[in-house]
Amino acid sequence: MSTKYIFVTGGVLSGVGKGITAASIGALLKARGYKVNIQKCDPYFNFDAGTLNPAEHGEVFVTKDGAETDLDLGHYERFLDIELTQSSSTMSGRIFRQVIEDERAGKYLGKTVQIIPHVTNAMQEAIAEAGRGFDVHIVEVGGTVGDYESTAFIEAIRQFRHHVGAKNTLSVHVVFLPYLTASAEVKSKPAQNAVRDLREAGIQPDILIARTDHAIPEGVLSKLSLFSDVAREAVIPLATVKTVYSVPSLLESAGVGKIIAEHFGFNKKKPNLKNWQDLERRVLSKDYKTVKIGLIAKYLDHQDTYASVIEAIKAACWSEDKKAEIKWIDAEALTFKNVASKLKGLEGIVVPGGFGSRGVEGKIVAATYAYKRDIPYLGLCLGMQVACIAVARIAGLHDANSTEFDPKTAHPVIGLMDDQKTLTVIGGTMRLGNYECLLEKKSKAAKLYGTTKIEERHRHRFEFSNEYEDIMEAQGLFIVGRNPLTGLAEVVEAPAKKYFLASQYHPEFTSRPMRPNPLFLGLIQSI
Ligand code: GLN
Repeated sequence: MSTKYIFVTGGVLSGVGKGITAASIGALLKARGYKVNIQKCDPYFNFDAGTLNPAEHGEVFVTKDGAETDLDLGHYERFLDIELTQSSSTMSGRIFRQVIEDERAGKYLGKTVQIIPHVTNAMQEAIAEAGRGFDVHIVEVGGTVGDYESTAFIEAIRQFRHHVGAKNTLSVHVVFLPYLTASAEVKSKPAQNAVRDLREAGIQPDILIARTDHAIPEGVLSKLSLFSDVAREAVIPLATVKTVYSVPSLLESAGVGKIIAEHFGFNKKKPNLKNWQDLERRVLSKDYKTVKIGLIAKYLDHQDTYASVIEAIKAACWSEDKKAEIKWIDAEALTFKNVASKLKGLEGIVVPGGFGSRGVEGKIVAATYAYKRDIPYLGLCLGMQVACIAVARIAGLHDANSTEFDPKTAHPVIGLMDDQKTLTVIGGTMRLGNYECLLEKKSKAAKLYGTTKIEERHRHRFEFSNEYEDIMEAQGLFIVGRNPLTGLAEVVEAPAKKYFLASQYHPEFTSRPMRPNPLFLGLIQSI
Protein backbone atom coordinates (compact mmCIF):
# COMPACT_ATOMS: atom_id res chain seq x y z
CA MET A 1 0.00 0.00 0.00
CA SER A 2 1.33 3.42 -0.87
CA THR A 3 1.44 5.98 1.93
CA LYS A 4 -1.71 8.04 2.38
CA TYR A 5 -1.32 11.65 3.47
CA ILE A 6 -3.61 13.73 5.64
CA PHE A 7 -2.98 17.48 5.67
CA VAL A 8 -4.32 19.44 8.61
CA THR A 9 -4.56 23.21 8.20
CA GLY A 10 -6.20 25.92 10.26
CA GLY A 11 -8.32 28.96 9.63
CA VAL A 12 -9.77 31.99 11.51
CA LEU A 13 -7.28 31.86 14.36
CA SER A 14 -4.58 29.66 15.79
CA GLY A 15 -4.58 27.92 19.12
CA VAL A 16 -7.98 26.26 18.75
CA GLY A 17 -6.73 22.69 18.83
CA LYS A 18 -5.37 21.90 15.40
CA GLY A 19 -2.56 19.87 16.98
CA ILE A 20 -4.97 17.90 19.20
CA THR A 21 -7.20 17.27 16.17
CA ALA A 22 -4.27 16.00 14.10
CA ALA A 23 -3.06 13.82 16.99
CA SER A 24 -6.58 12.46 17.60
CA ILE A 25 -7.03 11.55 13.94
CA GLY A 26 -3.73 9.70 14.22
CA ALA A 27 -5.01 7.85 17.28
CA LEU A 28 -8.16 6.77 15.39
CA LEU A 29 -6.11 5.38 12.51
CA LYS A 30 -3.66 3.67 14.85
CA ALA A 31 -6.64 2.09 16.63
CA ARG A 32 -7.68 0.70 13.24
CA GLY A 33 -4.32 -1.03 13.02
CA TYR A 34 -2.53 1.29 10.60
CA LYS A 35 1.08 2.40 10.94
CA VAL A 36 0.92 6.15 11.41
CA ASN A 37 3.51 8.91 11.38
CA ILE A 38 2.89 12.60 11.99
CA GLN A 39 4.79 15.79 11.22
CA LYS A 40 4.52 19.47 12.07
CA CYS A 41 5.46 22.00 9.40
CA ASP A 42 6.04 25.32 11.10
CA PRO A 43 6.13 28.45 8.98
CA TYR A 44 8.37 30.50 11.26
CA PHE A 45 11.91 31.11 10.26
CA ASN A 46 13.69 29.38 13.10
CA PHE A 47 15.84 26.35 12.38
CA ASP A 48 14.41 24.49 15.37
CA ALA A 49 12.51 25.34 18.55
CA GLY A 50 15.64 25.22 20.71
CA THR A 51 16.17 28.95 20.80
CA LEU A 52 12.51 29.93 21.19
CA ASN A 53 11.38 31.55 24.42
CA PRO A 54 9.14 29.10 26.29
CA ALA A 55 7.17 32.01 27.74
CA GLU A 56 5.99 32.81 24.21
CA HIS A 57 5.97 29.43 22.51
CA GLY A 58 5.44 26.93 25.27
CA GLU A 59 7.83 24.13 26.12
CA VAL A 60 10.54 22.86 23.82
CA PHE A 61 9.76 19.20 23.24
CA VAL A 62 12.78 16.93 22.72
CA THR A 63 12.66 13.78 20.60
CA LYS A 64 14.76 10.67 21.16
CA ASP A 65 17.18 11.69 18.41
CA GLY A 66 17.67 15.06 20.06
CA ALA A 67 15.49 17.33 17.92
CA GLU A 68 14.28 20.43 19.76
CA THR A 69 10.73 20.80 18.58
CA ASP A 70 7.39 22.51 18.94
CA LEU A 71 5.24 21.32 21.83
CA ASP A 72 2.72 19.85 19.39
CA LEU A 73 5.10 16.92 19.00
CA GLY A 74 4.43 16.21 22.66
CA HIS A 75 0.70 15.93 21.93
CA TYR A 76 1.47 13.67 19.00
CA GLU A 77 3.63 11.33 21.07
CA ARG A 78 1.13 11.22 23.91
CA PHE A 79 -1.86 10.55 21.66
CA LEU A 80 -0.15 8.10 19.33
CA ASP A 81 2.18 6.52 21.88
CA ILE A 82 5.01 6.49 19.37
CA GLU A 83 8.48 8.05 19.42
CA LEU A 84 9.04 10.69 16.77
CA THR A 85 12.27 11.97 15.27
CA GLN A 86 13.66 15.14 13.74
CA SER A 87 11.84 14.34 10.50
CA SER A 88 8.54 15.08 12.28
CA SER A 89 9.51 18.69 12.91
CA THR A 90 10.06 20.86 9.86
CA MET A 91 10.50 24.57 10.31
CA SER A 92 10.88 27.04 7.46
CA GLY A 93 14.37 27.98 8.62
CA ARG A 94 15.52 24.38 8.16
CA ILE A 95 14.10 24.26 4.61
CA PHE A 96 15.55 27.62 3.60
CA ARG A 97 18.98 26.78 5.00
CA GLN A 98 19.01 23.60 2.96
CA VAL A 99 18.01 25.44 -0.22
CA ILE A 100 20.70 28.05 0.32
CA GLU A 101 23.30 25.38 1.05
CA ASP A 102 22.27 23.56 -2.14
CA GLU A 103 22.60 26.81 -4.07
CA ARG A 104 26.11 27.36 -2.67
CA ALA A 105 27.00 23.79 -3.54
CA GLY A 106 26.03 24.50 -7.13
CA LYS A 107 23.21 21.97 -7.15
CA TYR A 108 20.81 24.20 -9.07
CA LEU A 109 23.06 24.30 -12.14
CA GLY A 110 22.84 28.00 -12.85
CA LYS A 111 19.06 28.27 -12.38
CA THR A 112 17.40 31.19 -10.61
CA VAL A 113 16.58 29.86 -7.13
CA GLN A 114 12.97 30.62 -6.20
CA ILE A 115 10.33 29.91 -3.55
CA ILE A 116 8.45 27.99 -6.22
CA PRO A 117 9.76 25.44 -7.18
CA HIS A 118 12.92 25.17 -5.07
CA VAL A 119 11.61 25.88 -1.59
CA THR A 120 8.28 24.13 -2.23
CA ASN A 121 10.15 21.12 -3.64
CA ALA A 122 12.34 20.93 -0.55
CA MET A 123 9.19 21.07 1.59
CA GLN A 124 7.60 18.24 -0.38
CA GLU A 125 10.75 16.16 -0.04
CA ALA A 126 10.70 16.68 3.73
CA ILE A 127 7.07 15.48 3.80
CA ALA A 128 7.70 12.47 1.54
CA GLU A 129 10.78 11.54 3.58
CA ALA A 130 8.85 11.59 6.86
CA GLY A 131 5.97 9.59 5.38
CA ARG A 132 8.09 6.85 3.83
CA GLY A 133 7.29 3.37 5.11
CA PHE A 134 4.09 4.37 6.91
CA ASP A 135 0.48 3.57 5.98
CA VAL A 136 -0.69 7.05 6.85
CA HIS A 137 1.30 10.22 7.32
CA ILE A 138 -0.39 13.21 8.95
CA VAL A 139 1.03 16.66 8.28
CA GLU A 140 -0.05 19.64 10.34
CA VAL A 141 0.77 23.05 8.93
CA GLY A 142 1.29 25.58 11.74
CA GLY A 143 -0.38 29.00 11.83
CA THR A 144 -3.46 29.84 9.80
CA VAL A 145 -4.02 29.73 6.06
CA GLY A 146 -3.61 33.20 4.61
CA ASP A 147 -0.64 34.05 6.83
CA TYR A 148 2.04 35.47 4.59
CA GLU A 149 4.55 33.10 6.15
CA SER A 150 2.70 29.84 5.56
CA THR A 151 2.04 30.42 1.85
CA ALA A 152 4.96 28.26 0.69
CA PHE A 153 3.92 25.29 2.85
CA ILE A 154 0.33 25.54 1.59
CA GLU A 155 1.53 25.61 -2.01
CA ALA A 156 3.80 22.64 -1.24
CA ILE A 157 0.89 20.53 0.05
CA ARG A 158 -1.23 21.56 -2.95
CA GLN A 159 1.48 20.32 -5.29
CA PHE A 160 1.96 17.20 -3.19
CA ARG A 161 -1.69 16.29 -3.72
CA HIS A 162 -1.22 16.82 -7.43
CA HIS A 163 1.79 14.49 -7.48
CA VAL A 164 0.46 11.61 -5.37
CA GLY A 165 -3.17 11.88 -6.46
CA ALA A 166 -6.30 13.15 -4.71
CA LYS A 167 -7.28 9.63 -3.58
CA ASN A 168 -4.03 9.35 -1.64
CA THR A 169 -4.41 12.61 0.24
CA LEU A 170 -7.08 14.12 2.41
CA SER A 171 -7.40 17.68 3.59
CA VAL A 172 -8.75 18.56 7.03
CA HIS A 173 -9.35 22.23 7.77
CA VAL A 174 -9.86 23.29 11.38
CA VAL A 175 -11.84 26.51 11.76
CA PHE A 176 -13.31 28.41 14.68
CA LEU A 177 -16.87 29.66 15.06
CA PRO A 178 -17.21 32.67 17.35
CA TYR A 179 -20.24 33.17 19.57
CA LEU A 180 -22.00 36.51 19.86
CA THR A 181 -23.42 36.93 23.34
CA ALA A 182 -25.63 39.87 22.35
CA SER A 183 -27.60 37.86 19.81
CA ALA A 184 -26.84 34.42 21.34
CA GLU A 185 -25.61 33.18 17.96
CA VAL A 186 -22.75 31.09 16.67
CA LYS A 187 -21.40 32.91 13.59
CA SER A 188 -20.06 31.06 10.59
CA LYS A 189 -18.82 33.92 8.40
CA PRO A 190 -15.15 33.88 9.56
CA ALA A 191 -15.10 30.10 8.97
CA GLN A 192 -16.57 30.53 5.49
CA ASN A 193 -13.87 33.09 4.72
CA ALA A 194 -11.21 30.75 6.07
CA VAL A 195 -12.37 27.99 3.74
CA ARG A 196 -12.38 30.47 0.87
CA ASP A 197 -8.73 31.32 1.66
CA LEU A 198 -7.83 27.64 1.46
CA ARG A 199 -9.72 27.12 -1.80
CA GLU A 200 -8.08 30.21 -3.25
CA ALA A 201 -4.79 28.48 -2.58
CA GLY A 202 -6.09 25.56 -4.63
CA ILE A 203 -7.02 23.17 -1.81
CA GLN A 204 -10.54 21.88 -1.35
CA PRO A 205 -11.04 20.56 2.19
CA ASP A 206 -12.50 17.07 2.54
CA ILE A 207 -13.31 17.48 6.22
CA LEU A 208 -14.12 20.68 8.08
CA ILE A 209 -13.69 20.64 11.84
CA ALA A 210 -15.77 23.44 13.33
CA ARG A 211 -14.35 24.33 16.74
CA THR A 212 -16.59 26.27 19.04
CA ASP A 213 -17.37 26.87 22.67
CA HIS A 214 -21.09 26.45 22.06
CA ALA A 215 -23.52 24.08 20.41
CA ILE A 216 -23.75 24.74 16.67
CA PRO A 217 -27.31 24.67 15.29
CA GLU A 218 -27.95 22.38 12.31
CA GLY A 219 -28.72 25.40 10.10
CA VAL A 220 -25.22 26.78 10.64
CA LEU A 221 -23.61 23.44 9.85
CA SER A 222 -25.61 23.08 6.60
CA LYS A 223 -24.70 26.62 5.65
CA LEU A 224 -21.02 25.87 6.22
CA SER A 225 -21.37 22.71 4.16
CA LEU A 226 -23.02 24.59 1.27
CA PHE A 227 -20.58 27.46 1.15
CA SER A 228 -17.46 25.38 1.61
CA ASP A 229 -18.54 22.57 -0.67
CA VAL A 230 -17.82 19.99 2.01
CA ALA A 231 -20.37 17.17 2.41
CA ARG A 232 -22.65 17.89 5.36
CA GLU A 233 -21.54 14.73 7.23
CA ALA A 234 -17.93 15.87 6.84
CA VAL A 235 -18.62 19.18 8.61
CA ILE A 236 -17.82 18.12 12.15
CA PRO A 237 -18.76 20.30 15.11
CA LEU A 238 -16.17 20.02 17.87
CA ALA A 239 -17.13 21.87 21.02
CA THR A 240 -14.56 22.65 23.70
CA VAL A 241 -14.41 19.70 26.08
CA LYS A 242 -13.21 19.23 29.65
CA THR A 243 -10.27 17.07 28.61
CA VAL A 244 -8.37 16.80 25.34
CA TYR A 245 -8.37 13.03 25.79
CA SER A 246 -12.08 13.00 24.89
CA VAL A 247 -11.31 14.21 21.38
CA PRO A 248 -10.42 10.85 19.73
CA SER A 249 -13.72 9.28 20.86
CA LEU A 250 -15.66 12.43 19.94
CA LEU A 251 -14.22 12.53 16.44
CA GLU A 252 -14.87 8.82 16.01
CA SER A 253 -18.52 9.10 17.01
CA ALA A 254 -18.89 12.12 14.72
CA GLY A 255 -17.83 9.84 11.85
CA VAL A 256 -14.34 11.20 11.11
CA GLY A 257 -12.66 7.79 11.21
CA LYS A 258 -15.27 6.36 8.86
CA ILE A 259 -14.96 9.22 6.36
CA ILE A 260 -11.16 8.86 6.27
CA ALA A 261 -11.35 5.05 5.99
CA GLU A 262 -13.81 5.31 3.09
CA HIS A 263 -11.74 7.97 1.34
CA PHE A 264 -8.62 5.82 1.43
CA GLY A 265 -10.42 2.52 0.83
CA PHE A 266 -9.42 1.19 4.26
CA ASN A 267 -11.11 -1.69 6.03
CA LYS A 268 -14.45 -0.94 7.62
CA LYS A 269 -13.61 -2.49 10.98
CA LYS A 270 -14.68 -0.39 13.91
CA PRO A 271 -11.68 0.60 16.03
CA ASN A 272 -11.46 -0.41 19.63
CA LEU A 273 -11.32 2.80 21.64
CA LYS A 274 -11.86 1.19 25.01
CA ASN A 275 -8.52 2.43 26.30
CA TRP A 276 -9.45 6.01 25.38
CA GLN A 277 -12.83 5.70 27.04
CA ASP A 278 -11.19 4.26 30.12
CA LEU A 279 -8.70 7.14 30.22
CA GLU A 280 -11.52 9.66 29.80
CA ARG A 281 -13.39 8.08 32.69
CA ARG A 282 -10.30 8.38 34.92
CA VAL A 283 -9.61 11.96 33.89
CA LEU A 284 -13.17 13.05 34.59
CA SER A 285 -13.69 10.96 37.71
CA LYS A 286 -15.01 12.94 40.66
CA ASP A 287 -14.33 10.15 43.17
CA TYR A 288 -10.56 10.36 43.18
CA LYS A 289 -8.66 11.73 46.12
CA THR A 290 -6.78 14.93 45.30
CA VAL A 291 -2.98 15.07 45.51
CA LYS A 292 -1.50 18.53 45.94
CA ILE A 293 1.68 18.96 43.93
CA GLY A 294 3.73 22.15 43.86
CA LEU A 295 5.45 23.03 40.60
CA ILE A 296 8.29 25.41 41.39
CA ALA A 297 8.10 27.43 38.22
CA LYS A 298 9.80 30.36 36.58
CA TYR A 299 7.32 31.08 33.79
CA LEU A 300 3.97 31.62 35.41
CA ASP A 301 1.78 33.14 32.77
CA HIS A 302 1.85 30.58 30.00
CA GLN A 303 0.03 27.29 30.58
CA ASP A 304 2.06 25.51 27.93
CA THR A 305 5.54 26.17 29.31
CA TYR A 306 5.57 22.96 31.32
CA ALA A 307 3.08 21.02 29.18
CA SER A 308 4.79 17.63 29.30
CA VAL A 309 5.62 17.91 33.01
CA ILE A 310 2.00 18.69 33.84
CA GLU A 311 0.70 15.86 31.67
CA ALA A 312 3.17 13.47 33.31
CA ILE A 313 2.07 14.46 36.84
CA LYS A 314 -1.58 14.05 35.87
CA ALA A 315 -0.98 10.71 34.14
CA ALA A 316 0.77 9.33 37.21
CA CYS A 317 -2.21 10.40 39.32
CA TRP A 318 -4.78 8.86 36.97
CA SER A 319 -3.01 5.54 36.98
CA GLU A 320 -3.13 5.57 40.80
CA ASP A 321 -6.82 6.57 40.83
CA LYS A 322 -5.95 10.01 42.12
CA LYS A 323 -6.49 13.51 40.89
CA ALA A 324 -3.68 16.05 40.61
CA GLU A 325 -4.09 19.52 41.99
CA ILE A 326 -1.07 21.35 40.63
CA LYS A 327 -0.12 24.56 42.34
CA TRP A 328 2.29 26.84 40.51
CA ILE A 329 4.79 28.36 42.90
CA ASP A 330 6.74 31.40 41.77
CA ALA A 331 10.38 30.36 42.23
CA GLU A 332 11.55 33.96 42.23
CA ALA A 333 9.44 34.80 45.25
CA LEU A 334 10.52 31.80 47.33
CA THR A 335 12.90 32.40 50.26
CA PHE A 336 13.91 30.54 53.43
CA LYS A 337 11.71 32.99 55.31
CA ASN A 338 8.51 32.33 53.43
CA VAL A 339 9.02 28.76 52.20
CA ALA A 340 7.03 27.11 55.01
CA SER A 341 3.97 29.23 54.28
CA LYS A 342 4.32 29.13 50.49
CA LEU A 343 4.66 25.35 50.33
CA LYS A 344 2.14 24.67 53.09
CA GLY A 345 -0.19 21.78 52.39
CA LEU A 346 1.77 20.48 49.42
CA GLU A 347 2.17 16.73 49.37
CA GLY A 348 4.81 16.63 46.66
CA ILE A 349 7.22 19.04 44.98
CA VAL A 350 8.39 19.04 41.39
CA VAL A 351 11.25 21.25 40.21
CA PRO A 352 11.26 21.27 36.41
CA GLY A 353 14.05 22.11 33.96
CA GLY A 354 15.23 25.62 33.26
CA PHE A 355 17.99 27.87 32.04
CA GLY A 356 19.51 31.05 33.45
CA SER A 357 19.78 32.25 37.02
CA ARG A 358 16.32 33.77 37.42
CA GLY A 359 14.43 31.85 40.10
CA VAL A 360 17.26 29.41 40.81
CA GLU A 361 17.79 30.40 44.45
CA GLY A 362 14.07 29.83 45.07
CA LYS A 363 14.34 26.37 43.54
CA ILE A 364 17.29 25.59 45.82
CA VAL A 365 15.18 26.75 48.76
CA ALA A 366 12.38 24.39 47.69
CA ALA A 367 14.77 21.43 47.32
CA THR A 368 16.34 22.16 50.73
CA TYR A 369 12.92 22.37 52.35
CA ALA A 370 11.74 19.13 50.73
CA TYR A 371 14.95 17.37 51.81
CA LYS A 372 14.85 18.54 55.41
CA ARG A 373 11.09 18.07 55.88
CA ASP A 374 10.98 14.80 53.93
CA ILE A 375 8.39 16.03 51.46
CA PRO A 376 8.32 13.87 48.30
CA TYR A 377 10.48 15.60 45.67
CA LEU A 378 11.05 14.99 42.00
CA GLY A 379 13.72 17.01 40.21
CA LEU A 380 13.89 17.20 36.44
CA CYS A 381 17.20 18.23 34.87
CA LEU A 382 17.76 21.63 36.54
CA GLY A 383 15.66 20.08 39.32
CA MET A 384 18.44 17.52 39.85
CA GLN A 385 21.13 20.16 39.74
CA VAL A 386 19.44 22.29 42.41
CA ALA A 387 18.87 19.20 44.56
CA CYS A 388 22.62 18.50 44.48
CA ILE A 389 23.44 22.13 45.22
CA ALA A 390 20.94 22.14 48.10
CA VAL A 391 22.47 19.04 49.68
CA ALA A 392 26.04 20.34 49.22
CA ARG A 393 24.98 23.52 51.00
CA ILE A 394 23.38 21.48 53.78
CA ALA A 395 26.78 19.75 54.08
CA GLY A 396 28.35 23.12 54.80
CA LEU A 397 29.56 24.21 51.36
CA HIS A 398 27.66 27.45 51.63
CA ASP A 399 28.55 28.86 48.24
CA ALA A 400 28.01 25.58 46.37
CA ASN A 401 26.50 26.41 43.01
CA SER A 402 26.42 25.69 39.32
CA THR A 403 28.90 27.60 37.20
CA GLU A 404 25.89 28.51 35.06
CA PHE A 405 24.72 30.82 37.84
CA ASP A 406 28.00 31.65 39.60
CA PRO A 407 31.02 31.10 37.35
CA LYS A 408 33.39 31.96 40.21
CA THR A 409 31.96 29.68 42.90
CA ALA A 410 34.53 27.89 45.06
CA HIS A 411 32.33 24.76 44.96
CA PRO A 412 31.15 24.10 41.42
CA VAL A 413 28.94 21.11 42.27
CA ILE A 414 27.51 21.57 38.79
CA GLY A 415 29.83 22.59 35.98
CA LEU A 416 30.56 22.36 32.30
CA MET A 417 32.13 19.40 30.59
CA ASP A 418 35.38 20.33 28.89
CA ASP A 419 33.92 20.06 25.38
CA GLN A 420 31.20 22.58 26.28
CA LYS A 421 33.65 25.16 27.61
CA THR A 422 34.90 26.24 24.21
CA LEU A 423 31.53 26.46 22.44
CA THR A 424 30.53 29.75 20.88
CA VAL A 425 27.30 28.70 19.16
CA ILE A 426 24.09 28.36 21.20
CA GLY A 427 21.66 26.54 18.88
CA GLY A 428 21.69 22.74 18.92
CA THR A 429 24.89 22.38 20.95
CA MET A 430 23.55 20.92 24.18
CA ARG A 431 23.57 17.29 25.23
CA LEU A 432 20.37 16.39 23.43
CA GLY A 433 18.18 13.34 23.05
CA ASN A 434 18.58 9.77 24.23
CA TYR A 435 21.52 8.62 26.31
CA GLU A 436 21.81 5.36 28.10
CA CYS A 437 21.76 5.19 31.88
CA LEU A 438 22.63 2.27 34.14
CA LEU A 439 20.76 2.15 37.42
CA GLU A 440 21.99 0.57 40.65
CA LYS A 441 20.17 -2.70 41.13
CA LYS A 442 18.90 -1.87 44.59
CA SER A 443 17.81 1.67 43.81
CA LYS A 444 14.24 2.91 43.95
CA ALA A 445 14.67 4.12 40.37
CA ALA A 446 15.53 0.60 39.14
CA LYS A 447 12.54 -0.80 41.01
CA LEU A 448 10.25 1.76 39.44
CA TYR A 449 11.57 1.17 35.92
CA GLY A 450 11.64 -2.59 36.46
CA THR A 451 15.10 -2.69 34.84
CA THR A 452 18.62 -1.35 35.38
CA LYS A 453 19.21 -0.31 31.78
CA ILE A 454 17.23 2.67 30.55
CA GLU A 455 17.39 5.37 27.90
CA GLU A 456 15.86 8.77 28.41
CA ARG A 457 15.95 12.15 26.71
CA HIS A 458 18.29 14.97 27.61
CA ARG A 459 18.51 18.69 27.03
CA HIS A 460 21.23 20.31 29.09
CA ARG A 461 24.75 21.63 29.06
CA PHE A 462 25.86 21.39 32.70
CA GLU A 463 26.72 18.24 34.68
CA PHE A 464 27.17 17.10 38.25
CA SER A 465 30.90 17.04 39.19
CA ASN A 466 31.65 13.59 40.54
CA GLU A 467 34.23 14.98 42.98
CA TYR A 468 31.31 16.09 45.20
CA GLU A 469 29.83 12.61 45.34
CA ASP A 470 31.29 11.74 48.78
CA ILE A 471 30.00 14.93 50.34
CA MET A 472 26.52 14.25 49.00
CA GLU A 473 26.59 10.63 50.08
CA ALA A 474 27.53 11.64 53.62
CA GLN A 475 24.28 13.60 53.65
CA GLY A 476 22.30 10.64 52.33
CA LEU A 477 21.99 11.55 48.64
CA PHE A 478 23.41 8.91 46.28
CA ILE A 479 24.13 8.71 42.59
CA VAL A 480 22.16 5.65 41.51
CA GLY A 481 22.16 6.15 37.76
CA ARG A 482 25.10 6.88 35.49
CA ASN A 483 25.95 7.08 31.86
CA PRO A 484 27.92 3.87 31.26
CA LEU A 485 30.39 5.52 28.87
CA THR A 486 31.19 8.77 30.65
CA GLY A 487 30.25 8.06 34.26
CA LEU A 488 28.13 11.22 34.29
CA ALA A 489 25.46 11.31 36.99
CA GLU A 490 21.99 10.66 35.60
CA VAL A 491 19.87 9.86 38.66
CA VAL A 492 20.27 10.78 42.33
CA GLU A 493 18.12 9.55 45.18
CA ALA A 494 17.98 9.63 48.96
CA PRO A 495 16.99 6.15 50.14
CA ALA A 496 16.18 7.28 53.66
CA LYS A 497 13.54 9.72 52.47
CA LYS A 498 9.97 8.95 51.46
CA TYR A 499 10.85 9.98 47.93
CA PHE A 500 13.66 12.27 46.98
CA LEU A 501 14.69 11.51 43.46
CA ALA A 502 15.98 13.57 40.58
CA SER A 503 17.25 12.93 37.09
CA GLN A 504 19.59 14.80 34.78
CA TYR A 505 17.36 13.68 31.93
CA HIS A 506 13.77 14.73 31.27
CA PRO A 507 11.46 11.82 32.16
CA GLU A 508 8.40 13.88 31.22
CA PHE A 509 9.01 13.43 27.49
CA THR A 510 8.47 9.67 27.56
CA SER A 511 5.44 9.81 29.81
CA ARG A 512 2.12 8.82 28.26
CA PRO A 513 -1.42 9.41 29.52
CA MET A 514 -2.00 5.67 29.74
CA ARG A 515 1.59 4.77 30.67
CA PRO A 516 3.12 7.37 33.00
CA ASN A 517 6.88 7.62 33.31
CA PRO A 518 8.10 5.55 36.33
CA LEU A 519 9.71 8.51 38.13
CA PHE A 520 6.42 10.42 38.19
CA LEU A 521 4.59 7.29 39.23
CA GLY A 522 7.07 6.85 42.09
CA LEU A 523 6.36 10.38 43.29
CA ILE A 524 2.61 9.86 43.37
CA GLN A 525 2.90 6.39 44.93
CA SER A 526 5.00 7.80 47.75
CA ILE A 527 2.25 10.24 48.77
N1 GLN B 1 20.45 24.90 32.69
C1 GLN B 1 20.83 23.56 33.00
C2 GLN B 1 21.84 23.01 32.02
O1 GLN B 1 22.02 23.54 30.95
C3 GLN B 1 19.59 22.67 33.07
C4 GLN B 1 18.91 22.49 31.75
C5 GLN B 1 17.52 21.96 31.86
O2 GLN B 1 16.93 21.95 32.92
N2 GLN B 1 16.96 21.54 30.75
O3 GLN B 1 22.46 22.00 32.28
